[in-house]
Amino acid sequence: MSEVKLSGVSKAFGSTKALVDVDLTVASGELTAVLGPSGCGKTTLLRIVAGFVRPDRGRVEIDGRAVFDESTDVAPERRGVAIVPQEGALFPHLDVAGNVGYGLPRSADSRARVHEMLELVGLGELAQRRPDQLSGGQQQRVALARALAPRPRVVVLDEPFSALDAGLRAQVRDEVSGVLRTIDATAIIVTHDQEEALSMADSVAVMDSGRLVMHGSPTEVYYRPVDLDVARFVGELVELPGTKTGLEVETVLGRLPIHGSVLPADGPVTAVIRPEQIRVDGRVERGAKGAHVEDVSFFGHDALARLTVLSGDVPIRVLARTVAPLRRGDDVAIRVIGPALVYPA
Ligand code: ATP
Repeated sequence: MSEVKLSGVSKAFGSTKALVDVDLTVASGELTAVLGPSGCGKTTLLRIVAGFVRPDRGRVEIDGRAVFDESTDVAPERRGVAIVPQEGALFPHLDVAGNVGYGLPRSADSRARVHEMLELVGLGELAQRRPDQLSGGQQQRVALARALAPRPRVVVLDEPFSALDAGLRAQVRDEVSGVLRTIDATAIIVTHDQEEALSMADSVAVMDSGRLVMHGSPTEVYYRPVDLDVARFVGELVELPGTKTGLEVETVLGRLPIHGSVLPADGPVTAVIRPEQIRVDGRVERGAKGAHVEDVSFFGHDALARLTVLSGDVPIRVLARTVAPLRRGDDVAIRVIGPALVYPA
């Protein structure tokens, strides 16, 4: 598979700036998730890589060779980029094998390739079924097999799980990322689901208003977001007013160590931590730092508790992700594990 590189890519539709000066490199064999709010330019980026949208400016390379620049515009069918669309978009009149083999020449090799792809996605038994006889998850796996059959250099997936319900979505997501890893595919997947991006990708590209604001590993994007907007967008956040002194910040939850490579000046800051950094230690004992449980959302594996911190002049609301059996109205003791990030107040 092949590296994909965008350099200085911009695209406007009338007065809408869909992409602004985007630089993004997806390494060969890497799965990159493009994450961002609705309308931030994710699909436009994908369609530019595939060749269906022509940038106003910039350069797109696949495997070190330009597929788009000021003098080049390689046609979509000659880029070696396969697309898995949102809802599979299978041909209803063809059976599963017919769908998977659609882009291949008629030959014994192609029949073998179809068989190989169906085995890869675990649908070898269903080759003769029609799309309307398949579940949503099976249809998405057929769409993936069809995309992979012509041995593309790059696979792009546009919100491929959005039509699936929550339980099936996680399962199909794992299956699809497993298949892509098995064949060492270079893949770009568009999603607005943070959990999906963090759990399945090698790297996450976060976009906002047409700009690429951060590209890093899932842990970098989650634990070291470049700014407060990225921090707010990727996962739940606890924001605390604080006063920074050196490598510590004083907050209503105590004096916390700071991490981060670019730090604001000493003085007032916004300190942020993730809800799972707040440990709930049971009922408050005399003199301990306390919080009042306002509400609890139980998810089975854990719960998200909305707490009001009791110390300080102004009540501060925080979120804690916890396995402690909390109930609304409890008073509990809390402490913070690990460092905070700080941003200018
Ligand atoms: P979503 O998550 O809602 O699918 P997105 O991040 O994929 O959104 P894009 O579809 O790339 O966003 O659109 C980016 C911006 O460009 C939006 O404001 C959109 O309305 C606009 N846009 C996209 N395609 C066109 C087009 N063909 N003509 C006019 N405007 C367009």
